[in-house]
Amino acid sequence: MSAGSIPCASRQAVLVDLRRFELRDFTPPHPGPGEILLQVKCALSCGTDLKFYRRGHPLFKFPMPFGHEFSGVVAEVGCGVENFRPGDELMAAPTAPCGACFFCRRGQENLCVQVIDTMVMGAYADFLLLPAHVVARNAFRKPPGLPFEEAALLEPLACVVHAQAIAAPQSFESCLILGAGAFGLLHALLLRHTGVRRVVIAGRGATRLRWAAELGADEVIDIARADVAQQVATLNGGYGPDLVIEATGQVSGWDSALLCARRGGRVIFFGGCAAGTTVQLDTRRMHYDSLTLLAPFHFRPADVRRARDLLAQRQLGAERIINGHRRLSDLPEVFDLLERGEVLKCAITP
Ligand SMILES: [Zn+2]
Ligand SMILES: [Zn+2]
Repeated sequence: MSAGSIPCASRQAVLVDLRRFELRDFTPPHPGPGEILLQVKCALSCGTDLKFYRRGHPLFKFPMPFGHEFSGVVAEVGCGVENFRPGDELMAAPTAPCGACFFCRRGQENLCVQVIDTMVMGAYADFLLLPAHVVARNAFRKPPGLPFEEAALLEPLACVVHAQAIAAPQSFESCLILGAGAFGLLHALLLRHTGVRRVVIAGRGATRLRWAAELGADEVIDIARADVAQQVATLNGGYGPDLVIEATGQVSGWDSALLCARRGGRVIFFGGCAAGTTVQLDTRRMHYDSLTLLAPFHFRPADVRRARDLLAQRQLGAERIINGHRRLSDLPEVFDLLERGEVLKCAITP
């Protein structure tokens, strides 16, 4: 069941060591039962990729293909695939839960025992093989009017949707986001779409803060120049923010989130920190100020479907998160731009 256009050789970016790529020739495999071979049309850079690039990952060994935010066209389908045909435009999350383990049976599919181990990597390539569990649970026909690069936002948006589903922001609430990177700004766009009273973004770097303001933050705070906790204490008539979303993945951000939330407020620890790091809790503040601390990780299929619907409606303005465009052969430059904070997300096309 081939589209008839699969070259016998194609390219795949491989991280061969810390900070070192190779663009290797590889022969795309024929899909097995339930699998799909996808011709990649767009892959997006992600902060997680930058972590791999800088410090590797305990679950993945070099040399490793990488890139996990993608969209494309179905090139070939394995036997038993009934929802897709060659030529279909497709968007998918890079993971899917097993549906049967302890966590899945309790509706916590984001914690499924296989969800990260079986993650699809290798979207910085001409072709990408999608495993059967992803095809069955987290792959969708791309709406015709949705550009490939926006469709590739499915995974990061699903993470954000999951976190906000847990936090349940209300229309009368004032929210603080710590971190003006791609995730911080996606959170801001979703909060705006939900319709909260006020969105404040605290971050670093004049360019990023300008992007945050352009994206619709009511107020931006430069954490290099101002004491965030002091500045946001005036929100809500002097009570402070109802909801604080930590999106820096730094211990300093976690500490700051704990200081900033109002009495009775909620903190979402969204950004994962380096292994081995810890934060201290002021027990008096936790208990007597009755803080609710939440640390959502990854997403469930319901979050992926909601993210797909949001992207299909095109009312978030999510395309504004993608402010760089490069070719696959320019990948080293993409990572230089990411490291210098000169791009939020870069769309990489073959
Ligand atoms: Zn990602
Ligand atoms: Zn499971």
